[in-house]
Amino acid sequence: MQEKINKLLSELTLEEKASLCSGKDFWTTEPIERLDIPSIMVTDGPHGLRKQAGDSDHLGVNTSVPSTCFPSGVGLASSWDRDLVEEVGVALGEETQTENVSVLLGPAVNIKRSPLCGRNFEYFSEDPYLSTQIAKHHILGVQSQGVGTSIKHFAANNQEYKRMSVDTLVDERTLREIYLASFETAIKEAKPWTVMCAYNKLNGTYCADNYKLLTEVLRNDWGYEGLVISDWGAEDDRVEGIKAGMDLEMPGNGGLNDKKIVEAVKKGTLDEKDLDKVVRRILKLVFRGIENARDMNYDKKEHDSLARKVASECMVLLKNNDKVLPLDKDKKVAVVGELANNPRYQGGGSSHINPTFLHNALEEMEKLGTVNFAKGYDANVDDPSQKLENEAISLAKESEVVVVFAGLPDRYESEGYDRKHMQMPENQVHLIEELSKANENIVVVLSNGSPIEMPWINSVKAVLEGYLGGQAGGGAVADILYGKVNPSGKLAETFPIRLNHNPSSLNYPGKENKVCYNEGLFVGYRYYDAKDMDTLFPFGHGLSYTTFEYIDIEMNKDEIEDSEDVKVTVTVKNTGDTAGKEVVQLYVRDIESSVIRPVKELKDFAKVELVPGEEKKVKFILNKRSFAYYNVDIKDWHVETGEFQILAGSSVVNLPLKAKIKVNSTRKIKKLFNRNSTFVEIADHPVGAMIVKQITENMKQMFNDSDIFNENALEEMAATNTLRSLITFGAMNEEELQNLINQLNA
Ligand code: BGC
Repeated sequence: MQEKINKLLSELTLEEKASLCSGKDFWTTEPIERLDIPSIMVTDGPHGLRKQAGDSDHLGVNTSVPSTCFPSGVGLASSWDRDLVEEVGVALGEETQTENVSVLLGPAVNIKRSPLCGRNFEYFSEDPYLSTQIAKHHILGVQSQGVGTSIKHFAANNQEYKRMSVDTLVDERTLREIYLASFETAIKEAKPWTVMCAYNKLNGTYCADNYKLLTEVLRNDWGYEGLVISDWGAEDDRVEGIKAGMDLEMPGNGGLNDKKIVEAVKKGTLDEKDLDKVVRRILKLVFRGIENARDMNYDKKEHDSLARKVASECMVLLKNNDKVLPLDKDKKVAVVGELANNPRYQGGGSSHINPTFLHNALEEMEKLGTVNFAKGYDANVDDPSQKLENEAISLAKESEVVVVFAGLPDRYESEGYDRKHMQMPENQVHLIEELSKANENIVVVLSNGSPIEMPWINSVKAVLEGYLGGQAGGGAVADILYGKVNPSGKLAETFPIRLNHNPSSLNYPGKENKVCYNEGLFVGYRYYDAKDMDTLFPFGHGLSYTTFEYIDIEMNKDEIEDSEDVKVTVTVKNTGDTAGKEVVQLYVRDIESSVIRPVKELKDFAKVELVPGEEKKVKFILNKRSFAYYNVDIKDWHVETGEFQILAGSSVVNLPLKAKIKVNSTRKIKKLFNRNSTFVEIADHPVGAMIVKQITENMKQMFNDSDIFNENALEEMAATNTLRSLITFGAMNEEELQNLINQLNA
């Protein structure tokens, strides 16, 4: 292909090269017939194919060809199941190939900084490790079918509010460890054909024009060889974009930017070599799409069954007191709530697709048990309806269990805007409270894309978080409620008790077109953990109809160099009477560190299936990255020599197994001292240590008789002094101080 591209580059005119740099229309690339350069189609994504055959838009308004609607991102991540996500990817790839589309625009991996982000339902997690692992397998699955993906939105696009203009201000370490890390492994290991740059600015520059982001980080640091595509309308300054490494502008711009590119090359403000790099990558994508295209068909029914299986693995059983679930098929069950027969199964915006089938929970439950239905509330309004509530209450009184379908209606969360609060509609909250007075066995099934407050939590026995379960979500809910499937999803995000407990709440959504990520690394559980705060439901939490015991943790070494791996084996047992799946989670804690670090961080996980009484050894491998932080001085990941704790268990707050390992750094970072270095900083250096000892002694003698300062206080006071104070207090002159600094830095 290289040769073909070289030849084409020599034949293309400047105008033709410029025309290739943006789409022909909303979804296709520009062809050049004279040189047999064809056009390919790209389309949304991420959890189904939204191919618009008629009128086009990027907000999911016009219809698209039917395709399977799988659970949205938040659900997929809650499965914590790499293989399952890959299977979904394969199915999505088949549908993409069937429809002659070359690139599916997803997965979407932005970190859930605030529960309010309107697109949280599309994103995977608040944790970058979980997010990038799920993304990696999504990409591997889709691309195994000869079509590409577009991991998006690169980067730090964590809110919809002012998404096309806001400047995200975030420090380098936080960016690397949290926001970029969500992309990094997926990009390095799954090699998506394209990366979609985000709408927002990042530290002062639009992502589409951001050389640091698109060239330094993505290509130079991570070795990415694919193409960067703009989010639809994200390009601000096309010429700057080309210099930055932003390849394909979408959608087409009617030739306006082509002219600017041509002019800039002619004027000499754009080097044609930079344009050639971009054109090369565009041609590579186009031919990759064409060469991998093949005739394909998929079985809609099979994909629908897969969607049901997947949905049942994604739902999270948050609470289940007195084993009210699973339901006995002979129990008289009241099903209440409009969302039971008018499901909310996907989110609004560009990911909104036209499903091949749609199953609702009420019909599916009717197939499995004895149920009666009452609407309970009108999903189109927020005010309670006395009439609908009364009907539901009468039904609840004559039933043994009440299953309430509640959550967030479409208008509450969507691409394009954020929520203002974390509450459910008032009519639903009121209904749950009234029903709980009429019947003590209330089960709430939720359909929502992001966390909500649950003021009613203590009045209900069980809560099943169904998220946006896709077209077969209704069947999956019925399967779980009646015990045909044992729930195994775990939260990929924290549910705070209240919105203002969330760490971003003091700086969200920002002012004057700027949002400052002042909470730094302390996103999601990293914050609640550090503050020792109660949450409504913690990260990683999810119940099962069986119980698991964490028996043992073993490591093959208790001391390693940071260049070595360590094998960790966790033994877990099913101690209940039902077969089930457990997500074993592994966290790493740096026991002592010279830099600020989260208390612990997720570093691996595995989903295992166990029959009653069965015990399995689950194996993990930790490597340098599992122990490292991003050191901004050396611009690299670094492990500080010291001890680390490895913790295993079922959620961030339930980690019964603990082990310790010492990791020795293979990289010595040389500290450079200057006149403003403090005594505490030089104390590790042999010469520095002598000076500090002497100064401390002097101070002790000076304040010998003081009853205000004891010895410890004097030591601490001495430690905060800077080297230049040696001059101030007459211990040295300038020249002597410079000699000392030279000696320390030698
Ligand atoms: C969204 C992208 C989407 C694109 C095309 C944009 O508004 O942010 O995620 O892929 O539209 O529909």
